Amino acid sequence: MKAIRVHAFGTPEVMRLEEVPDPAPGPGQVLVRVRAAGVNPVETYVRSGTYARRPALPYTPGNDAAGIVDAVGNGVVGVAAGDRVYTSETVTGAYAEFALCNASRVHPLPASASYAQGAAVGVPFATAWRALFQRTRAVPGETVLVHGASGGVGVAAVQIARAAGLRVFGTAGTADGLDLVLRAGAHAVFDHRSAGHMEEAMAASGARGFDVILEMLANVNLAGDLKILAMGGRVVVIGSRGTVEIDPRDAMARDASIVGMSLFNIPDADRTAVHAALVAGLENGTLRPVIGREMPLSAAPESHVAVMSPGAKGKIVLLP
Ligand code: NAP
Repeated sequence: MKAIRVHAFGTPEVMRLEEVPDPAPGPGQVLVRVRAAGVNPVETYVRSGTYARRPALPYTPGNDAAGIVDAVGNGVVGVAAGDRVYTSETVTGAYAEFALCNASRVHPLPASASYAQGAAVGVPFATAWRALFQRTRAVPGETVLVHGASGGVGVAAVQIARAAGLRVFGTAGTADGLDLVLRAGAHAVFDHRSAGHMEEAMAASGARGFDVILEMLANVNLAGDLKILAMGGRVVVIGSRGTVEIDPRDAMARDASIVGMSLFNIPDADRTAVHAALVAGLENGTLRPVIGREMPLSAAPESHVAVMSPGAKGKIVLLP
């Protein structure tokens, strides 16, 4: 099969399209013929070699694939050749024509969702769901600010929160992004490139502040987030690319909580719950992953530049 291979950590160009042997499913494993693979920022951190998790070289990047089950190993029940699926983790990498997965990491992809949409689910939608309901315990009727709502995780969070009955506010950095966030279901949107956007958001909350903030760039926004939380508010750090200085008194004054999360830490029982909810949302149409850009597998280097550039419009996916 053709697969993207990384032989040395470094710039996007270290990713090369190569011929490698087709993987075969062992006991408990599923082989997926990949129709689309999602590109996540974490894959750029891993590729650069600066991330805490460094796979053994050479490796194929990617967690999120969607496609058709090609074959299953001994002992696999509930998944069969020909099934449409998306993955939440792979053994051999998603940027390839085939991806080997443990059976528990393969989930049904409803007919109403395209393969590109399926490739947008594994990391982004699971992160958004876990942030909202397992880390900050958001409940219907609360207000949520999705700070960075135009990307993969943000669009997912807006759709999930809106479907669950929260009052949803989102931010983006371009006109197209703001429009996308509104169409995803936000009640109001703000431009995070505008200096006054925190104050605008606070005013839109009726000066009460937000019960929950999902933060995609904590090193830039965390200090300001603490000032626009409601009493008992929770901010969950999903993304951060540096350090930040905060005034702890802003948290004290509001009985606020700052929680972190890494999807890598999710316990199996929580993962099962998350994907049951996501499959249901895809089936009933409340979750509709938005694809901003489709690129051929050979354009993996360009996709890594694109995912780290401003102006997000949903997900970037690679098509083998
Ligand atoms: P993405 O698709 O590249 O989207 C990035 C988002 O960040 C866009 O909405 C972008 O908006 C927004 N952004 C840019 N500048 C911002 C600012 N000053 N304030 C607020 N938001 C800003 O990435 P993603 O897949 O959604 O992931 C978002 C972040 O979460 C990344 O840092 C990623 O590494 C992290 N993440 C963490 C986990 C975890 O388990 N903790 C899981 C998944 C992702 P514009 O482009 O419109 O400006």
